[in-house]
Amino acid sequence: MSDDVLRIRTPIGIKYQYSAGPRVSSHLHGLMDGRFVGKRCPTCHLVYMPPRNGTCAKCGCLLGEDVEVGQRGTITTFCIVNVPFLGQTIKIPYVAATILLDGADMGMSHLIQEVEAADVRMGMRVEPVWRPRDEWQPSMENVLYFRPTGEPDAAFESYAGQL
Ligand SMILES: [Zn+2]
Repeated sequence: MSDDVLRIRTPIGIKYQYSAGPRVSSHLHGLMDGRFVGKRCPTCHLVYMPPRNGTCAKCGCLLGEDVEVGQRGTITTFCIVNVPFLGQTIKIPYVAATILLDGADMGMSHLIQEVEAADVRMGMRVEPVWRPRDEWQPSMENVLYFRPTGEPDAAFESYAGQL
């Protein structure tokens, strides 16, 4: 019998404080009201939702005015997660997708639920399912997931530039 330690299990964690700053605060305040507030680039006019770090990836300039985008959006790309992992809370298979909210020019990632993974497709129209209001924080976690709206799929040309 060996005395070698082959494995240990220990909890680890990192505590940090995020300073949103003026470029992201309106987005976080919007989430506390159940709204998606992004920002427009003053140079190229792209609308970022979420507003990332407050700068335009294309121009490098600071994002400008607030823009409230729609609650609904279109799945541009997605992946089906089939791999179990430690701490997983969602039953596999499940779908993680890039969603282009109506009025936004950049997609964001979120879960897709209330539909079989095999039925998810590019162009599918989706809407958010919000947590109960008394659980809301300034976080995208206020949205539990997105689900299909039942609308006809968006035309490929409407999101082809996002791929
Ligand atoms: Zn720009």
